[in-house]
Amino acid sequence: MIRFDVVIIGGGLSGSSTALNLSKKGYSVLIIEKEKFQNYKACAGGMASSMQRFIPFDIEDSIESKIKNVEFRWKAADNVTADLTGESPFWIIKREKLDQSFLDESLNNGVQIMRPLLIEKIIKKYDKWEITCNNKIKYTSEFLVIADGSESKWAEYFDLGPRKPKFANTISLRLKGLGDIPRDSVRFEFGFIKYGFAWAFPLRESLNIGLGTFINNGLLENQVINKQVIRSFGFDDFPQKTITKKLRIWNGFHLINGDKVLAVGDAASLCDPFLAEGIRPSLISSFYAAEFIDQCLSGKVDNLNLYTKKINNIWGESMAWGRRIAQIFYRFPRTGYQLGVKRKTAPKRIAQILSGEMSYKDIAKRVIRRLITRSDT
Ligand SMILES: Cc1cc2nc3c(=O)[nH]c(=O)nc-3n(C[C@H](O)[C@H](O)[C@H](O)COP(=O)(O)OP(=O)(O)OC[C@H]3O[C@@H](n4cnc5c(N)ncnc54)[C@H](O)[C@@H]3O)c2cc1C
Repeated sequence: MIRFDVVIIGGGLSGSSTALNLSKKGYSVLIIEKEKFQNYKACAGGMASSMQRFIPFDIEDSIESKIKNVEFRWKAADNVTADLTGESPFWIIKREKLDQSFLDESLNNGVQIMRPLLIEKIIKKYDKWEITCNNKIKYTSEFLVIADGSESKWAEYFDLGPRKPKFANTISLRLKGLGDIPRDSVRFEFGFIKYGFAWAFPLRESLNIGLGTFINNGLLENQVINKQVIRSFGFDDFPQKTITKKLRIWNGFHLINGDKVLAVGDAASLCDPFLAEGIRPSLISSFYAAEFIDQCLSGKVDNLNLYTKKINNIWGESMAWGRRIAQIFYRFPRTGYQLGVKRKTAPKRIAQILSGEMSYKDIAKRVIRRLITRSDT
């Protein structure tokens, strides 16, 4: 039996950042990760630079592009471009690199990782978690963090997050070269994909391309359309090698903690249901997970309920509006594009959402105020 203060299931971004935050507070942490190694992560890597405040080390090395413009198009035409103001508020990072940096920092701080390792059973015994793995070793801990991502099986097991999780369907690929995407721009392509959109985010020498549907379980199997998307980004052929992934998205206010257990990142269903932004909620939830576990371990509070409350307040309230916007926008995308994206102030607002300066809640409040006062913002 090997003892830790906290065991974390999943060594992706949420798991390793929670581990780092906890180890910096002096706690012993074990990460259990099922994969031996991941050399490609299905993630376009778009991140608000303001998130640096949740990253306790320099990530300059992981930043591949600093974005100045956000371009929106309807079926490869009808362009709208938003200039991002301020000191490069939106970055494209290489996820594999960022995740690895978090892990390396954690290991330097004394965190242990077991990989590849599968958990067979988790029980609570004398108020401690007892985790049995397929190496037949038992690990015990005071607290448990569920960070096993979109396919989480442990979130359901502990009744964390929505009973019926909601998923976006995605395809992601990385192509050599930048096609016709400028190095300092990202592009959102609407109109080709029913119930969703496609995006192209530039790395140093390649392009992260993604296709996603966000409502009605829209499928992405139409090769003719997928080819059109690739062409719209300046490439000829849709490649053979792509990754399909179901991305768990925000689906209502739910408990994401139980007794001495909590979920972070995708496992907690925090990903933005409109634009698939999941790095920001992963970092925020990991930060507060460590804060509230620390409060419990140091005897300041006796449960983790404030964790759910905090995340619902600072993230969920915006996502509730994001979900409403997604329901309308992806149902009536042409109208949505004309009235939403092509509106004079819209590109700036979307850019502010991406850079973390504004939330969907702020946008909704403005629209409501505008409807009441009938003035233009
Ligand atoms: C195509 C695509 C593009 C995206 N683009 C962006 C973007 O540009 N910007 C953005 O902000 N977000 C983006 N996202 C969302 C973002 O990638 C996720 O929200 C983020 O990866 C969540 O991190 P996580 O650590 O919670 O989960 P993950 O990164 O999925 O990590 C989960 C970890 O748990 C491990 N694991 C799973 N099951 C077990 C188990 N039973 N036992 C042990 N370990 C286990 C996995 O191997 C993995 O290492 C995108 C997502 C997709 C699919």
